[in-house]
Amino acid sequence: MFGRAPKKSDNTKYYEILGVSKNASQDDLKKAYKKAAIKNHPDKGGDPEKFKELGQAYDVLSDPEKREIYDQYGEDEVNNGMGGGGGGHDPFDIFQSFFGGSPFGGGGSSRGRRQTRGKDVVHPLKVSLEDLHNGLSKKLSLSRNVICSKCKGKGSKSGASMTCPGCQGAGVKVSIRHLGPSMIQQMQHPCNECKGTGEAISDRDRCPQCKGEKVVPEKKMLGVHVEKGMQNGQRITFPGEADEAPDTVTGDVVFVLQQKEHPKFKRKGDDLYVEHSLSLTEALCGFQFILTHLDNRQLLIKSNPGEVVKPDQYKAINDEGMPMYQRPFMRGKLYIHFTVEFPDSLTPEQSKALETVLPPRTSVQLTDMELDECEETTLHDVNIEEEMRRKQSQAREAYEDDEDMHGGAQRVQCAQQ
Ligand SMILES: [Zn+2]
Ligand SMILES: [Zn+2]
Repeated sequence: MFGRAPKKSDNTKYYEILGVSKNASQDDLKKAYKKAAIKNHPDKGGDPEKFKELGQAYDVLSDPEKREIYDQYGEDEVNNGMGGGGGGHDPFDIFQSFFGGSPFGGGGSSRGRRQTRGKDVVHPLKVSLEDLHNGLSKKLSLSRNVICSKCKGKGSKSGASMTCPGCQGAGVKVSIRHLGPSMIQQMQHPCNECKGTGEAISDRDRCPQCKGEKVVPEKKMLGVHVEKGMQNGQRITFPGEADEAPDTVTGDVVFVLQQKEHPKFKRKGDDLYVEHSLSLTEALCGFQFILTHLDNRQLLIKSNPGEVVKPDQYKAINDEGMPMYQRPFMRGKLYIHFTVEFPDSLTPEQSKALETVLPPRTSVQLTDMELDECEETTLHDVNIEEEMRRKQSQAREAYEDDEDMHGGAQRVQCAQQ
């Protein structure tokens, strides 16, 4: 087995292919491979055999273990001895992984250009407050472009492409505009014939599956998990699920949660707010009521004995707010805002009966002499909001009248000139 070791010529070939010395560092190897592989890539019109050799040489020499075996025993040993792992590598895969890999396993679609990042696709996702409280799993079907499997994103049967005749492969066209006798403006815009790719495919060579478009539409189901406690506006991201395109890092599909208004509960952070109206009797003498929560549990809410609830008062129940995002066992508070419905009037009997049980009046009794000094007044009912609105619109009209007067004065001046 070690008999082949003396064949010294066997272990320099890979270094020669890459054009580096035997003691080249990993960095030297990388640089040498990158330069040579881009130059010799078949997509760029390079020799496929040469490209394959480069991949093989780089694959072995970039792996310290393989390189050691190669240095000692040569090409045959490294390819046989590694359980076949060294020999069978697709040179396009090596090329691909060298340039940071491709999320779509398109295999050799890269042409050595820097890969651009595809657009993210953003969808609003309407959810109820119940969904954000209880969590929700939903299957959504989306249509997206994927790299054509038949031509692996090349658009042609042969895998070859021609230089676009419209732009000579530049991907852009330059138009010249004459702005004056000695002035021109040069404008660059993407080539419309090749959509900026710089390549064209002959009609006969067009891939029958994608018609040369390189991508085909596909339906895709995405399982969206709205987690307990997620917020309005929160984003759920599916990396690399947007449209695929050759030489492009696929963008993300992003769902942005949009919470629908809830008729009963309002949310602020992890807390919930609910309005509840009490009759005057309930406010004074105690109340109990059932509140159906967002998960349909029935909460019994009641006052403490002897407790009086005042109008506009807030009370809170701990741990009945929203679950906290990613800590769903922790919960915010549930605030209840009370309004109290007073009766519009009382009969003299009711009034008298009430006075016997309510705390005594605190206002001082007025003497007859004090009363004689005063003027009588009358209290009217008002709708204060309506009164305010009316006053505001009156003020606006007055202001506009003022404007008109100035305008008129100006017109007169103009006419006199
Ligand atoms: Zn073009
Ligand atoms: Zn195709």
